[in-house]
Parts: sequence; C-alpha cells; structure tokens
Amino acid sequence: MTTFAELTTLRVGGGARRWVEARTSQEIVDAATAAQAAAEPWFALGGGSNVVVSDEEFQGTVIRVLNDGIQIDGEGTQHTLVHVQAGHRWDDFVSWAVLNGLAGVEAMSGIPGTVGGAPVQNIGAYGQELAEVVHSLTFWDAELGDVVTLTRADLDFAFRHSVLKAGRRGIVLDITFALWRVGESSQALSKPIMFEQLSSALGVAMGASEPLGAVRARVLELRAAKGMVLDTNDPDTASVGSFFVNPIVSERFARSLPPDAPQFPVGEDEPPRYLAPGEEVPPLSTRQRGVKLSAAWLIENAGVRKGFALPGSGAGISSKHALAITNRGTATANDVLQLATYVQSLVQSAFGVLLLPEPTLVGLSL
Ligand SMILES: Cc1cc2nc3c(=O)[nH]c(=O)nc-3n(C[C@H](O)[C@H](O)[C@H](O)COP(=O)(O)OP(=O)(O)OC[C@H]3O[C@@H](n4cnc5c(N)ncnc54)[C@H](O)[C@@H]3O)c2cc1C
Repeated sequence: MTTFAELTTLRVGGGARRWVEARTSQEIVDAATAAQAAAEPWFALGGGSNVVVSDEEFQGTVIRVLNDGIQIDGEGTQHTLVHVQAGHRWDDFVSWAVLNGLAGVEAMSGIPGTVGGAPVQNIGAYGQELAEVVHSLTFWDAELGDVVTLTRADLDFAFRHSVLKAGRRGIVLDITFALWRVGESSQALSKPIMFEQLSSALGVAMGASEPLGAVRARVLELRAAKGMVLDTNDPDTASVGSFFVNPIVSERFARSLPPDAPQFPVGEDEPPRYLAPGEEVPPLSTRQRGVKLSAAWLIENAGVRKGFALPGSGAGISSKHALAITNRGTATANDVLQLATYVQSLVQSAFGVLLLPEPTLVGLSL
C-alpha cells in the first residue's frame, strides 16, 4: 500500500483511498475533473517536500503530478521564454537553465520539489524568488472546471504567498518562465547577487555577478551545510525545509523586541494619493508591509536548541537549522505536530509572535 511516508520528504503520513499517477496534462485534468465531479476530497501531490499529511488514511484522491519536459518557447531581445511541465523536478530545471546560459533561477538551486509546486508558496532562496521569473502558467481551475492561463499579476505573489496558497483550488499544469539570456554556457554571468551570505561565500561585493555555474555550486554548498539539500545520508534533510514562515510584524511591534533580534524591513510604502476622476478604486493589496523577523532566531531565543526533541518522540529540531523539524527515523505526523505546537507556544509566550506553518497541512491543524 502506498503511503505519504514514502512520497514526502518528511517521511510521515498514512495512505489514501485512491492514488492517481497522472503523466500528461490531459491525465491530470481528467483525474481532477473526475474527483471534483465525485464531490470527494482531492489534492495534487508534487515532490511532497512542502506537505505534512496525517497518519490517518486520506479519504479521497491524491493526484500525483508526473508530467515533465522543458521546451524553449521563444527568444526576445533580453528574455527567453521557457515552458516547463508541472511535474518536472525544480532543481533539474535550474540545472538545465544554468547549463544553457539562462539567468534568474541560479540562486534557487537545490530547492526540492516540482516546478508545479513552486508557485504555491512563491519559493525563494538566497535573494531570488519565483515571482521574478514567472511569465504565466496553465491552470486547471476547479471552480470553473476549465483550463485557464494565469499571468504573474493574477497570481498575487508575495513573500511565501500566492493565490494558490490562499485557497484558489486547481492544479498547475505547466509554467512559462521568462529567463535572462546571458550567454551560451554555465560560464555566463548570473543576475546580480543580492544576498549577503552568498556574496561573501563567493568572495564578491553585493550586486556583483558571477558565472552561473559558480553561483549554483556555492548555493548547493551553503544549503548542504544547513541540511537544506535532500540527501538520504543526512538525517537532517528528512524535513519540509523551514517549518515556520518568517513572520512579518509592524514596525512598532518590532521595536518592542530585543535589539539583537534580526529585522529586515519589507515592502515599499506607497504614499496616499487621490484617485483621478473616473479612476477605479484599486483592489486592496494583500502584500504585507512591515518588518520581517527571523523565525529561527525567535525559536532559539525562546529556548529551543538545534537538535532538541521531546522525550520519546521520533521528531526533532534539525541539528543544523532551528527552523527545520526533522524525522529522526520513526516519527509520525503526530510527533511532528506535537513538536511544532511546542515550539509555537514557547515562541508565543516569549515574544508574543504566533509562528505559522509553511507547509500545507492535510488532515492536521496547528
Ligand atoms: C530540504 C528542503 C529545503 C527546502 N528549501 C526551500 C527553500 O529554500 N525555499 C522555499 O521556498 N522552499 C523550500 N522548501 C519547501 C519546498 O521544497 C517547496 O515549497 C517546493 O516548491 C514544494 O514543491 P512540491 O512539488 O514538493 O510540492 P508538494 O509538497 O507536493 O505540495 C505542496 C503544496 O503544493 C500543492 N501542489 C503541488 N503541486 C501542485 C500543482 N502542480 N498544482 C497545484 N498545487 C500543487 C500541494 O497540493 C500542496 O498543497 C524546502 C523543502 C525541503 C524538504
């Protein structure tokens, strides 16, 4: 019997009533249409790297998104449009882009999962974010029962957020990326490096560019040192990556925190303005402005050390990164949930900040 423990990187979770392996966009649409018509619960599973599923059997259909392939769609003056199927492994796509002299995703090397799973939480790392390179995507919309094209603007990307994360039901079938054509090989130069840790690891100033291949190699090294590249020999990588989202709080609240708490201002302040006659009222922005805090700092300073585990539990905090909850080999979804609840309540009582989970929880709540 197939279980989520076998198909997810955290390696927890029970079975499901029905599994469908969908290898083409049409198979995905057919499976989703049938599940929706049967009025039964269903969801799409990509690489299983950002989902925590309950130990109980899932009473519905799991559609495994397994279509793959990359195709160049067109060359502009600066951009190359690249069309990638949703089930393609994200890091294989990054590796392909780097080898082909296409910039824009090199700093996101080593993130597990699929291309179709990437827009859900607008993946990002080392100064790059998916939102910067998505041109559009093809989406089977569960409400409409039809396939639609969503542009970057339709997706309302923000920090670890998109309309898909906010609840627009459906399945991403493929994504068209707009990447920068910077050369013909991995020696071509990257986008400017905008992340301090990466620029110092490369020994260059912030804003400098380095060969794509060198950036990819350095990012993979930095990630491996934090247990953030999947590796069956490293037990710290049996996780969903960061378990909690870095919280964004108001400036006023941030000032009440200890001075050594890392703080990063986010969002541009738009000055208030009058609407021109006849101009439509713009939709309320869902983008948060304020100060981003480090969830890892809050966790460690609330007293939860790296490597911590509750007595008798198979789950533990990674020995390399306080933000990752890992399966030490015998964890159940319940063990993970208990540890997450413990961390959440300690941080809340120490700092008054409620940490929210980053992965999708299925059959569980925190
Ligand atoms: C070791 C490790 C390191 C990580 N590092 C990072 C990081 O640096 N930055 C970062 O942002 N994330 C990181 N993650 C989280 C994760 O890799 C990403 O969120 C990834 O994009 C999830 O893709 P997936 O295919 O595995 O999605 P899954 O885990 O399979 O699914 C996650 C959610 O997306 C939905 N979904 C999946 N595929 C589709 C689809 N085709 N259409 C619609 N919905 C879909 C699922 O229903 C579910 O709700 C890390 C995870 C791990 C394990």
